[in-house]
Amino acid sequence: MPESVAPLTGRTALVTGAASGIGRAVAARLSADGAHVFVLDREEREAKEVAAEVGGEHLVADLGDPREIDALGLGTEIRADILVNNAGFQHVAPVEDFEPVAFAAIHRVMLQAPFLLARALLPGMYAAGWGRLVHVSSAHGHRASAYKSAYVSAKHGLEGLSKVLALEGAGRGVTSNTVCPGYVRTPLVEDQIADQATSHGIAESDVLHDVLLARTAVKRLVEPDEVAGMVGFLCGPGTDSITGTSHLMDGGWTAA
Ligand code: NAD
Repeated sequence: MPESVAPLTGRTALVTGAASGIGRAVAARLSADGAHVFVLDREEREAKEVAAEVGGEHLVADLGDPREIDALGLGTEIRADILVNNAGFQHVAPVEDFEPVAFAAIHRVMLQAPFLLARALLPGMYAAGWGRLVHVSSAHGHRASAYKSAYVSAKHGLEGLSKVLALEGAGRGVTSNTVCPGYVRTPLVEDQIADQATSHGIAESDVLHDVLLARTAVKRLVEPDEVAGMVGFLCGPGTDSITGTSHLMDGGWTAA
């Protein structure tokens, strides 16, 4: 029997928001699958650490600033066969108090940046006849929650962007899919618990069970490695026909 070769050997992946949480787990998974990984984040020290852990390279940019995205030289100095659009953040407030600046910032990082990054890397993927675009969306790409107008609308937009990319990439070897977790055990969720307690007027200890997991059948947080496993699968062998799809990992939230 020949020794098995890691499925992404020879591929290069760019993972955004890879200094923490889900992105960090995705970087580790794609690296374990044989890819050379670019760890992109606005947090330089953490990005460097993760890049060292996974044997990849770090890139620093604020994805809310298109000039910083341009300056990365994607598609010219840096090519990638796999793009994982993962960077994101949350801001929780009722619409009437939601600062327009915060709304626009979420849309720039979580919707405009995925478009700009795909736009820069797609010509290289088309030339190679192979590419994988995976967007870390959310159950909030399919469902709404009060106080999350910017996040929910950005994730719904990302679902639409992914489908358009799937149609345009069809026949050129490039697939585009989303992964949609429920609540995952990461700093993003841990930071929300205090905000949600204030908005809902309840104790922080009740937020996890009564608010975050209220609509979830499986009463536990999703682990970052579970999400990374789905991303790895979508980049792996046998996935040429899986495109334009949305993979819910929400513990049954959207089944009800
Ligand atoms: P996290 O806060 O642990 O990590 C997010 C990373 O994105 C951080 O390293 C941060 O520095 C980076 N980032 C944020 N803004 C950036 C910017 N402007 N430029 C560059 N980097 C930036 O969060 P996470 O929970 O791992 O979330 C990752 C993705 O998963 C997000 O898109 C989030 O919406 C999505 N998601 C998370 C959950 C959850 O419960 N944690 C659920 C569903 C979807």
